[in-house]
Amino acid sequence: NPANADLVIVGAGLFGLTVAQQAAEHAGVRVLIIDVRDHIGGNAYSYFDKETGIEIHKYGAHLFHTSNRRVWEYVNRFTEFTDYVHRVYATHDGEVYPLPINLGTINQFFRAHYTPAEARALVERQAGEHAHGIARNLDEQGKKLIGQPLYEAFIKNYTAKQWQTDPAELPASIIRRLPVRFNYDNRYFKDTWEGLPKNGYTAWFERMIADPRIEVKLGVDFFDESQPLNRRTLAEAGVPVVYTGPIDRYFDYELGELKWRTVDFKERRYDEDDHFGCPVMNYSDADVPYTRAIEFKNFNPERAESYAPGKTVVWEEYSRFARRGDEPYYPINTDEDKSIYDQYRTKAQLEPNTVFGGRLGTYQYYDMHQVIDTALTAYVEEVAPLLNRW
Ligand code: FAD
Ligand code: UDP
Repeated sequence: NPANADLVIVGAGLFGLTVAQQAAEHAGVRVLIIDVRDHIGGNAYSYFDKETGIEIHKYGAHLFHTSNRRVWEYVNRFTEFTDYVHRVYATHDGEVYPLPINLGTINQFFRAHYTPAEARALVERQAGEHAHGIARNLDEQGKKLIGQPLYEAFIKNYTAKQWQTDPAELPASIIRRLPVRFNYDNRYFKDTWEGLPKNGYTAWFERMIADPRIEVKLGVDFFDESQPLNRRTLAEAGVPVVYTGPIDRYFDYELGELKWRTVDFKERRYDEDDHFGCPVMNYSDADVPYTRAIEFKNFNPERAESYAPGKTVVWEEYSRFARRGDEPYYPINTDEDKSIYDQYRTKAQLEPNTVFGGRLGTYQYYDMHQVIDTALTAYVEEVAPLLNRW
């Protein structure tokens, strides 16, 4: 057994870390986690910037939120959370509006003082034919939720920048996750619990695997046969594997490539205490080439004392199609993608001793809490039975 372990996990993201933690705790087995990157945490990894003391989320802003009690209790075993509440603003046509779309956005946009009932009636009129039908895609869903003029102002161009795909070909679920409120509540999430890990994401993840039975090897690519912990040697030894990399890569793209969006980040450092006055500014219009800008220090105002004064760090997000070798971030999920994925999934189910999971392994637009929930379930239903047989 080249791994010297009872279970090998490919990928130290939240799916892999959760399964590793569960396997060590409940089955008492030795777990080896490999990751091709030089850090744990997958896309939720963060680091503290040396110059400013600001926590930077290396793969884009990560906000934890959930309504799932099992997940909330689980994550609280490893970290405390701050009382951060996510709020986002959007710049449109030279004005700043609150998001998600709420009565404040609506009244500012229409220069009006609508009551909740009046605003509802207006949006319904403006949704026209879409008001009562079932939304089959993002375009119909957007118009149904907020009516045509608000859709064109806040969703159409942002979505075009983010996806470069006809909104009529995107799944409605992409924007169904955003609330629309006919009151002045501008909390971005509708979940019961939210917050940021008090000592940063990486401290949280280190606690999850602080078990002597769990070992991590970084800079190791599962597909690289020049190193011993590769797909072929592990399969020959019959070691159970949890694979959280891209599912199409696992099968050498033999049924075609699944399409992803990736994001390029452009960092800007300003000699200012506060650049935006909020953590996230979305840019709704087509003339600004990036979708949004993140001012990381504003996620953690409770750390004000530890920041270098007069300095802030902002990351602009430029979205584009991922090519092979880019970080796959957002599954595009057109009908063609879904059909290819279904075929890979059928193959994956036949793969001996191997469990597929996570955002890449199941081609799903999952948030962290969903990944943790599916990992807790996958441990019980799919991984534990393999350990018993092993
Ligand atoms: P990943 O974190 O992607 O981990 C997979 C790991 O597998 C990676 O570390 C990768 O290096 C490794 N790997 C892949 N192939 C190989 C290989 N061949 N060999 C070895 N290792 C390999 N969620 C939220 O809840 N809130 C947010 O605000 C939020 N914002 C997001 C913003 C962006 C820009 C993105 C992209 C995602 C965001 N998410 C957010 C989602 C969150 O990142 C994911 O739900 C979660 O990190 C997925 O965990 P995972 O373990 O499935 O995958
Ligand atoms: N969206 C939009 N305008 C905005 C914010 C979001 O059109 O100002 C749409 C866009 O299609 C985006 C989706 O809603 O992809 C989900 O937004 P969210 O902020 O949840 O995206 P994420 O944080 O996952 O990138």
